[in-house]
Amino acid sequence: MASTERIREALPLIITWYQANRRSLPWREDPTPYQVWVSEIMLQQTRIEAVIPYYRRFLQELPDLPALASVTEDRLLKLWEGLGYYSRARNLKKAAMLAMENYQGSLPAQAAELKKLPGIGDYTAAAIASIAFGEPEPAVDGNVLRVITRLLADSDDIANSKTRTRFSSLLKEHYPRGENASLLTEGLMELGEVICLPNGMPLCAQCPLRHLCVAHENGKELDYPVKSGLKERRMEEKTVLLLQCGNRFAIRKRPGKGLLAGLWEFPNIEGKLDPSAVLPKAAEMGISVLAAEPCGNAKHVFTHVEWRMTGYRLLCPSESEGFLWLTREEIAEGYSIPTAFRAWQKLLESFTADQALPGSDPNR
Ligand code: SF4
Repeated sequence: MASTERIREALPLIITWYQANRRSLPWREDPTPYQVWVSEIMLQQTRIEAVIPYYRRFLQELPDLPALASVTEDRLLKLWEGLGYYSRARNLKKAAMLAMENYQGSLPAQAAELKKLPGIGDYTAAAIASIAFGEPEPAVDGNVLRVITRLLADSDDIANSKTRTRFSSLLKEHYPRGENASLLTEGLMELGEVICLPNGMPLCAQCPLRHLCVAHENGKELDYPVKSGLKERRMEEKTVLLLQCGNRFAIRKRPGKGLLAGLWEFPNIEGKLDPSAVLPKAAEMGISVLAAEPCGNAKHVFTHVEWRMTGYRLLCPSESEGFLWLTREEIAEGYSIPTAFRAWQKLLESFTADQALPGSDPNR
């Protein structure tokens, strides 16, 4: 059977299966364009279970485009805190402002128009257009690629964007309109998430496509999808300085461009400092210090970079300039510290205001 024929037969089966097996998720209760958009952006690089509480909190405070367009950046980042990839949140706000200006306060229905908004690429545009507006637009993500490459036993490299485009065209030939477009997009994703699993053996016995699936017929499910090697992750060492003055701690804003742009962080420097190098370095940075002690290591893994961090707690006699000095509670309530620094933020809870460090002179 030709690939196009196989796809044509498979699509209605996916819709029927989805109608009988769909999981109840908050963004499915009332799939307005705004809700579909926010959920799709949150779900990029984040698991469904992790997204649910963030989604509920976000929608409660920012229930529509006007609310999102007018929220302050600090509040927005606070609502996003813990989800990571903060540019997603910033792009949501930028896109909401543009939609207010150019589309009378609502999202456009066509994928081509949606793609003009920041943060909305091919996949998200197709997901919003099909789920919320019933447009015949296949949203091809990793789940869909897995199902389709297995269904067709197709060994083209899915890391190549041409493969994705080819599958999108193949699906589009048979994609329905209206409610079925919405059901099909959700169904394809759901099938990839809960049946045609990414790790481990797929649950073919429960799959509505098992009699059509070439990989299953050949017992070669795990040979697909084929994906060329990812680039190796770069390792970066850092030294994090937890500056404490009484019951206040120093944070600062990261530069407006690059990794974690514009977010708040604990002061840190490139490279791993030995204990003997910490006080001279602090002096060089204009920080006066009563005493210092090592406070452990932490690491954080980004997509292409891994940070290996060494921490020092520095007791300061005064609040040096160039930082914002805040209590732990003020930091937790009003400032979004990215997950990369979360281990250090947690460590602050164990620091007491009157605790002297070894070598410090409490009478100074
Ligand atoms: S039959 Fe198995 S391998 Fe084929 S699509 Fe279904 S779950 Fe995936």
